[in-house]
Amino acid sequence: MPTDYYSVLGVERDASETGIKRAYRGLARKYHPDVAEDKVAAEAHFKEINEAYEILSDPQKRQQYDRFGSVPNGAGAPGGFGGFSSSEGISDIFDMFFGGARGGGGAQRAAGPERGSDLRYDLQITLEEAFTGVEREISFTHLGSCTTCAGSGAKPGTLVSRCDRCGGTGAMRSVRQTPLGQFVTQTTCTKCGGEGTFIPTPCETCRGRGRIERPRTLTVKIPAGVDDGSRIRVSGSGEGGTRGGPPGDLYVYLNVAPHRIFRREGNDLHIDVPVGFAQAALGATLEVASLDGPTPLTIGPGTQTGSLFRVRGKGMPTVRGSSRGDLLATVHVSVPTRLTRRGRELLEEYAAIESEHADDRTFFDRVKDAFRPE
Ligand SMILES: [Zn+2]
Ligand SMILES: [Zn+2]
Repeated sequence: MPTDYYSVLGVERDASETGIKRAYRGLARKYHPDVAEDKVAAEAHFKEINEAYEILSDPQKRQQYDRFGSVPNGAGAPGGFGGFSSSEGISDIFDMFFGGARGGGGAQRAAGPERGSDLRYDLQITLEEAFTGVEREISFTHLGSCTTCAGSGAKPGTLVSRCDRCGGTGAMRSVRQTPLGQFVTQTTCTKCGGEGTFIPTPCETCRGRGRIERPRTLTVKIPAGVDDGSRIRVSGSGEGGTRGGPPGDLYVYLNVAPHRIFRREGNDLHIDVPVGFAQAALGATLEVASLDGPTPLTIGPGTQTGSLFRVRGKGMPTVRGSSRGDLLATVHVSVPTRLTRRGRELLEEYAAIESEHADDRTFFDRVKDAFRPE
């Protein structure tokens, strides 16, 4: 006598997809082997519920079941967790019990190869080095795969066995009844520390960890144009993997030290240029510092303090490409603090000429005039 899947889920034969899903969720919650009182009975029932759900939630299988009363090949091979093969069913269960946090914490099966962690190395370079590009040697310690046991953690010739406390899942669950309902708490297995495996005879070199701390020195090529906060990935130079997993990567985070005279903005460089007031008034060609040597800058007559001049192509190079940013020079007109005798004479002469030109009087001249004693 084949099982009546509709009565297993407790739904009518014309139940909707959502109705079936709702009934299934309710039953799965009630008969989940991890939460039920009588585990053996619950497990059998749970399997039946999943089988029914797998058939009835699939329109094609349901139709076949309605017509023939059975589905060829049954409801997926038994084994694993409750014996269902549809991945949707599995994620439904995990969403229900672990709030959708599958893969986080210890919920995943932790017995396969695992990639090593990435490492971060902070490196400070100068703006000049960022300008030209540089090779730097860096030294650090990382967890490398143990060569004695090839990363397995077990003494050569011995085996790693599955943890008997958690059955290899790496996690232990406990159920608590509260007035608000059942609470499932999941903790990391205390025997295997979440690994899911247990090493009866640990490797003597790495004491069963599979990895050992090793000093490492390598040369990092820093391309021209890198900026503060740029990072360079050195593939495979992070921590070694566990159980034969690949190593992680090393990330070199660059910190470009502030420069004495240049301020960087993207690929442009800013510089403050002091200019004598005669040069500013008459116009001049100056020599301005840039990272590849002095560069000429022409300022026109009557240049005001705070004026900005752009020297194209004299900024930082772009990391990938041949173009360069600009050099932006802000002119600061400086007033001499000390004058020579001759300089003073010339300036006084100039001041006298200037006051004759009433039209050229500045706002301050007019203010001064207003307060001049009669
Ligand atoms: Zn365990
Ligand atoms: Zn070892």
